[in-house]
Amino acid sequence: MADKKETIMEDLVSLTKRRGFVFPSSEIYGGLGAIYDYGHYGTLLKNNIRDSWWKHMVQYRDDVVGLDSAIFMHPTTWVASGHVDSFDDPQIDCRNCKARMRADHVLEAFDIVADKMPIEFINAELDKLREQGKLKCVNCGSKDITEAKRFSLMVKSNLGSPTDALSEENVVYLRPETCGGIYLEYKNTLDSTRVKLPFGIAQVGKAFRNEIVARQFVFRTREFEQMEMQYFLHPSMMDEKYDMWRDARWQWYLELGIAKEDIRWYKHEKLAHYASQAYDIEYNFRSLGGFKEVEGIHARGDWDLSQHSKHSGKILDYVDEKTKEKFIPHIMETSVGLGRLFLMFLDKAFTVEDLGEGKTRTVLKLPKVLAPIKVAVFPLLKNKPELVAKAREVHDMLRKQYMCEFDDNGNVGKRYRRQDEIGTPYCVTIDFDTLEKGTVTVRDRDTMEQTSVSVEELSVFLEKNL
Ligand code: ATP
Repeated sequence: MADKKETIMEDLVSLTKRRGFVFPSSEIYGGLGAIYDYGHYGTLLKNNIRDSWWKHMVQYRDDVVGLDSAIFMHPTTWVASGHVDSFDDPQIDCRNCKARMRADHVLEAFDIVADKMPIEFINAELDKLREQGKLKCVNCGSKDITEAKRFSLMVKSNLGSPTDALSEENVVYLRPETCGGIYLEYKNTLDSTRVKLPFGIAQVGKAFRNEIVARQFVFRTREFEQMEMQYFLHPSMMDEKYDMWRDARWQWYLELGIAKEDIRWYKHEKLAHYASQAYDIEYNFRSLGGFKEVEGIHARGDWDLSQHSKHSGKILDYVDEKTKEKFIPHIMETSVGLGRLFLMFLDKAFTVEDLGEGKTRTVLKLPKVLAPIKVAVFPLLKNKPELVAKAREVHDMLRKQYMCEFDDNGNVGKRYRRQDEIGTPYCVTIDFDTLEKGTVTVRDRDTMEQTSVSVEELSVFLEKNL
């Protein structure tokens, strides 16, 4: 399928700010590049995406357990993993406007695959474009562009006594990915949770990267959340389990309403020396003008545990009870950014419908399971105490089971518009029929159809439909 050219980014940024999903961080001080805060509805949506992932990865399975490891880790962790030496991206600068660009992304626009390529290769390709007059600043169009240089993505800090602050000895890193904690807790998990190979450890948490360019809203931020699962296995099982996880992850997207035409596999041709297979799932973002990576599924061999065993001097072998074979487990991982999924679901859900007579409505057609608010409850009129009291009663009943919202502002039409824009599947209006006949009006977000349901049956109705 062709990349989508239409862009809805401006609309999404504006809607998410106006309706309390996402705010630029530290806005009153002028903001901080590529850092965002999630407001009430954004937090709820993000939590629902995270919970769905956790259910599929941990709760519904026998072979995966959870972890919540610290952000700060012993600094040798990142020496062992290779991050301190080589977790970097190729950077180029415009000498005219000082804009910074990722050289591999600039080359990608010319269909040159430069991801993880050596800097010499990147500079040779940039030189060719320069000679052809094609290398231009993405910001101002100037052709005065520097050579590529390596730019470390590691975010450094210091821990320890304040007098020693900033000394190199006290350096710690804010983890650039969450899986480091999983590798280091592999042995404790094995010894404490009765798991046996093959098994996985899943965790959700913050990660930090000093990204060179980050102008794509929450797609690429310098502080973000990752949801990662490392699956430990005997190397003979790698192909089978790798296929199983590829399939499981693909299905998760389909179950949450992503069309199969809008996702595709990207196969990495250039692999790290220890890796045997690497695929990404890409989604066709309307807001970013085409397919972009959302998730990586990578077979990493025994590199991670071997490196940590070597650098720590600790034995991280696994002994198979039956065969008595002793070996370092191999690992395959699934790794996805929560902010990227958040943008993907908004990108998919954002809809502007033509209602005729020059009228439109904006609606977030989120899957019900992800919707921040499941039910909104309104009294038809704000100034009728009996309607307000009954609406409060219904709201109090439903909120025990669902994230609900009570709204008596403005007229019902205005309240519907607001709930449509935050993606609430059902609005329940308490009117005079409620007082007389015990029925409420339930309005469906997607069809806008209104159904009369008795108060007693409301819970059953919602349970069936949500
Ligand atoms: P990219 O090529 O886009 O920089 P990557 O290949 O470096 O990403 P990984 O290191 O494989 O990404 O990270 C796994 C997942 O974490 C990515 O698929 C993405 O969903 C998420 N992720 C990585 N970097 C960021 C970021 N800066 N902001 C938000 N999510 C991110």
